[in-house]
Amino acid sequence: MATKFDVIVIGAGPAGYHAAIRAAQLGLKTACIDKWLDSNDKPAYGGTCLNVGCIPSKALLDASHKFSEAKNDFADIGIISKGLEIDVPVMIARKDTIVSNLTKGVAGLFKANGVTTFEGTAILHAGCSVEFTSHKGDKESLQADHIVIATGSVPVEIPPCPITDDLIVDSTGALDLSAVPKRLGVIGAGVIGLELGSVWNRLGSKVVVLEALDEFLPLVDAQVAREALKQFKKQGMDIRLGARVTGAEVKGKKVKVLYSDAEGEKSETFDVLVVAVGRKPYTQDLLAPDSGVTLDERGYIYVNDLCSTDAPGVYAVGDVVRGPMLAHKGMEEGLMVVERIAGKKPLVNYDCVPAVVYTHPEIAWVGKSEQELKANGEQYVTGSFPMAASGRAMAANDTVGLIKVIADAQTDRILGVHMIGAHTSELIAEAVIAMEFGASAEDLGLTMFAHPTLSEGLHEAALAVSGHAIHVVSKKRKK
Ligand code: FAD
Ligand code: NAD
Repeated sequence: MATKFDVIVIGAGPAGYHAAIRAAQLGLKTACIDKWLDSNDKPAYGGTCLNVGCIPSKALLDASHKFSEAKNDFADIGIISKGLEIDVPVMIARKDTIVSNLTKGVAGLFKANGVTTFEGTAILHAGCSVEFTSHKGDKESLQADHIVIATGSVPVEIPPCPITDDLIVDSTGALDLSAVPKRLGVIGAGVIGLELGSVWNRLGSKVVVLEALDEFLPLVDAQVAREALKQFKKQGMDIRLGARVTGAEVKGKKVKVLYSDAEGEKSETFDVLVVAVGRKPYTQDLLAPDSGVTLDERGYIYVNDLCSTDAPGVYAVGDVVRGPMLAHKGMEEGLMVVERIAGKKPLVNYDCVPAVVYTHPEIAWVGKSEQELKANGEQYVTGSFPMAASGRAMAANDTVGLIKVIADAQTDRILGVHMIGAHTSELIAEAVIAMEFGASAEDLGLTMFAHPTLSEGLHEAALAVSGHAIHVVSKKRKK
């Protein structure tokens, strides 16, 4: 006899664990199945995000930023820091402790909310039935009225650079280097390449980033992307665009990378090579032939706007379905699905998904960019504020960057907000809230912001849309 649940969630990454906890909060009899094992072969909830993604990368980004500030910027503010050193094992151990505390925290939340957990692998069959195999190999049949698939994604590998134990690594390996490599190669100037490249660059590696595209960060507002490239180069990152990697040769303790660019065939030798060329949806060994769940042409589970798959009662959320591979996007999808199962009617607002690159300066945006609006032929007005004009940024000795508000030329409704600068990962939330409530640039301009704060930059950028910023001379637009 199969054990029966209202909802079975497959995957305990951010999309899955949010879904499972909310389902249980809503009174649904809920199970969550997850197969993640940590480096000690112990089950650990939280998926990619907590184990090898968002959290460990931010632990190293924050630690390395503190080192970089102490080394490069403290003297400017009258703090003399001599004899600074890096203790990589301590830094990595601190990161591991944060991860372990958080993954145990999810286990605690499951328990406290009454989610039944299964540690092992799920295979989905027709009629919402699940074949569960524990890590020890024991099998159990489970049955539910509703299934939520949240099996996430894994790194893309490229044939010229197969991952090895310690010389050619993916993002997971780049979070666990035992020492600062002298020369670090990174393939891909995407989010992971820039974040993890920044970590090791700050700690003293000579970092070379090889990016196949000619354009830098094409999804980011072009003005912001230009400023970002300028800043990263200033920090010593050697970012080579239009560089297509064709091969890698491991020789002793070094890896030689072959690549071609507009000038022809080239090569570079590194102590460690990080492959960060994207992630792909993960459905391996998940779907029995009779499951009824279909994949799209790129391997994502096919879902509609409400995250329903082609199989009745089966939903899919997070990285395994279309849309940006961001933890918070999956969390919202997971919550939406189980709330709808419980009879509520929430929707995910895909026009208001914030994105952040946690480099320094941080890059953050929500909504449409100028290049997208131009391509769609939409009429818009922009207002910008340079952080160099912010009193608080001056006080913090961190004046790089800008905030830009884009509003509809006719209605003044905010269409997008783009930021580069310190703490923009936090500031972007203000723009998301404004857009979620359909605010106009004038609404933001009429809102009171605490002084002195970096947030005032958003206020000024909104005021600049109508030519009324106070601390920058802006073009006169409206009376
Ligand atoms: P996952 O987190 O991948 O979780 C899926 C879970 O399902 C895993 O535990 C897996 O073991 C389990 N599973 C898979 N198949 C089965 C099966 N058949 N049976 C049982 N269990 C199964 N995003 C951000 O928003 N902000 C960031 O700062 C950020 N930083 C990142 C940094 C790095 C280095 C990386 C790699 C990613 C980062 N991301 C970030 C992306 C983020 O980690 C993902 O978007 C997020 O983890 C996706 O959540 P998910 O729940 O869909 O899947
Ligand atoms: P990405 O898609 O952001 O960047 C991959 C880059 O690699 C692209 O610029 C691509 O042109 C380049 N590339 C691909 N093949 C190449 C080749 N052969 N040679 C040279 N360059 C090549 O992917 P990512 O950085 O691996 O990140 C994966 C996902 O994880 C992203 O979708 C992102 O959403 C998520 N993530 C998010 C955050 C965050 O929110 N801060 C952080 C890390 C990861």
